[in-house]
Amino acid sequence: MLALPKNITDLDSWRKQAERIEVGKNLLYYKQSAGLSFDKAKLASYEKQALEHSRAFLKSFGKEPRALFLMSVDAVGRAKTFKLQMKAHGVRSSKIVSTKFKLQGSKVNWGSWRQFTAQSDDSQARKELYDDFIEKSKFLTPLIAARFNGYRQALAEYEIDPLALYLEIEKISYERLTSFVDTLGSTLRPIFRDALDDYSKEILGGNQAEYYDDFYFFRSRVFRQYEKHLPTKYEPVPKVLYTMKKMGLDASKVKVDSANRKGKSASAFCFPIKVPTDVRICYRKSNPLQNFSGVFHEFGHGIHGVSIKTNESYENKYLIAMGVAEIFSIFFENLLHDKTFLQEALGFTNETAVDITRRFRFNELFFVAFYSANSTMKLRYWKEQLSIEQANALYSDLTERFMGIRYPGKYWQLHHVMPEYFLYSPSYMIASVRAFELANLLRSRYGDRYWNEEKAGKDLYELLSVGGGIDVDSFSKLDATGYANSLGQ
Ligand SMILES: [Zn+2]
Repeated sequence: MLALPKNITDLDSWRKQAERIEVGKNLLYYKQSAGLSFDKAKLASYEKQALEHSRAFLKSFGKEPRALFLMSVDAVGRAKTFKLQMKAHGVRSSKIVSTKFKLQGSKVNWGSWRQFTAQSDDSQARKELYDDFIEKSKFLTPLIAARFNGYRQALAEYEIDPLALYLEIEKISYERLTSFVDTLGSTLRPIFRDALDDYSKEILGGNQAEYYDDFYFFRSRVFRQYEKHLPTKYEPVPKVLYTMKKMGLDASKVKVDSANRKGKSASAFCFPIKVPTDVRICYRKSNPLQNFSGVFHEFGHGIHGVSIKTNESYENKYLIAMGVAEIFSIFFENLLHDKTFLQEALGFTNETAVDITRRFRFNELFFVAFYSANSTMKLRYWKEQLSIEQANALYSDLTERFMGIRYPGKYWQLHHVMPEYFLYSPSYMIASVRAFELANLLRSRYGDRYWNEEKAGKDLYELLSVGGGIDVDSFSKLDATGYANSLGQ
């Protein structure tokens, strides 16, 4: 009879200590990505504490509470493969380097590859660089294989595998998820192909898009005409703050760092350091449209972090499935894909708003095609326990199936998400559909200009404030067909 209260007290102190370690770690990782100096030894010590603390949970409490079990197992798996991840980061910057091509005076490397391709109109140069990097991916292969296997083995000690862990956190079955991805990718393939042909005419002078004209090339290239000049007098940060405020959401507590610092990550990011009191966004100013997209996206994460109630449990504050976390970032980013919003909130002419939304729609189609291949490959990699070579072969087949272009199979190893995360790619697709469904629900309740409605903001707050405790079924059916139809129009 006395055992129960004692356990609860123990669990509470375990959570308190877990949060202390989490916050300490988060701050240092934030500093690392923000290009600020930080204490590496201190970070290593936090990592060690996190590993020991997770092990202590698994030893004393076993498999319940489930969320803490899942968090702890993942933390152990990550800690055990952490060195391989760091090694791969090192190899990326030291070995994936061109001896021929330069960007702003420096040799093009893994980190500047996308910038180079977006700026270069020389297809032959892009092809040569791509082929060269594909060949050099062999330096990464053994590290990726060892890390994935190491994670699998670490999890096996706790009778769970990476796929099962991921699916349980995302609260979805393998069959449901693979069929969701497949429906989305297959339905949109012909529509994507038509759009790709259209934009190839504009961008590639009528030549067919090839494997080296990838998502990142088109995604950026398609907006070239807006790179230097975006016809709006507004700035992204005040605009997103104002938009949220009108919805009754207070994002002013989110800290923003927009300084241009050496060593700062090129892509924007949001870091919930301590939920809900210390949430930070970091970005580097690039072209104006990218600034808007990045800022609206990251503020979607930011408002999530600062809206979670202080009295929510540790696990609801810090274990939020990616398929949930990305809903709100995509939701706010998607405002920029809405013609009415572009006209009324940013002051674009009808013509500009139509053109911009059309181009965003193409990017969304490309995203679905590319991520259908990415997601299916990763899901089947874990399910069928494939080797890296088998995964490469499958990847080639899938790019052909969903995009109509056969990629060299090793391409995924050079991606920034695919080899870096154990799974994750399907979460983007899940969240995109849910963000679309959420916007539709708010539109049906409050009209086309739901972003002007405080009541819509109140509905959003209900979903944001519970963190990982969210009930996604309250607004989402995860209906691939509905989403596909909207993009097919
Ligand atoms: Zn995001």
